[in-house]
Amino acid sequence: MDAYYSRTQPTRSLASTMPAGREHCIRCHKDFSANYPSACIVPHVFDSRCDPLRLYSGEFQWMSECCGGYGTVTEEEPGSGVFRMMELTACYRGPHTTRKDVVRLQYNGVSIIRCKHNRSGKCIRNHLTQRSRPVFDKEVVYCDGDEQDRHHDG
Ligand SMILES: [Zn+2]
Ligand SMILES: [Zn+2]
Ligand SMILES: [Zn+2]
Repeated sequence: MDAYYSRTQPTRSLASTMPAGREHCIRCHKDFSANYPSACIVPHVFDSRCDPLRLYSGEFQWMSECCGGYGTVTEEEPGSGVFRMMELTACYRGPHTTRKDVVRLQYNGVSIIRCKHNRSGKCIRNHLTQRSRPVFDKEVVYCDGDEQDRHHDG
C-alpha cells in the first residue's frame, strides 16, 4: 500500500549538490561564497585593434578601452607583448555585489558588463582577472546590447 511509503522527492539530493551560500557577482561574474572589501577586482580592458601611442622613448603606450588614460600600460616594442604594468590600477576594486541598483551605473559595456545567461540560467561571461599582462577585448565575452552601455557621455 502506498500509504506505507514516505515518498522521497528526488529534488532533495539535487539540492545538496549546490553549495550553500554560493552567489554570483553581477559585476565581475565570479561565483563567490565569501565577500570582503577587495574581493571584487575588474581589470581594465584594452582594444587590440587600437593603435598605441608612440612615446619619445620608442616605447608604446596603450590606453584602456574602458577608462582611456586612467588605465595605461607600456609595451617595450610593438608586438613584443612585453608590457610594463607598474602604474596599472584595477578598473574596479571593492566588494562583490548581487544588487543591480549598486552596479547599474558602473556598467560600461567594456570591462564591467551585464550578466548574460544561457538557457540553463548560468552566466556566460568570463571572470577576468588582474594579472601581469593586460587584458585584451578578445578575452571578454561580448553580447548584443553591450554597446548601449558604452560612451555614456556621448
Ligand atoms: Zn577601466
Ligand atoms: Zn565581483
Ligand atoms: Zn554574470
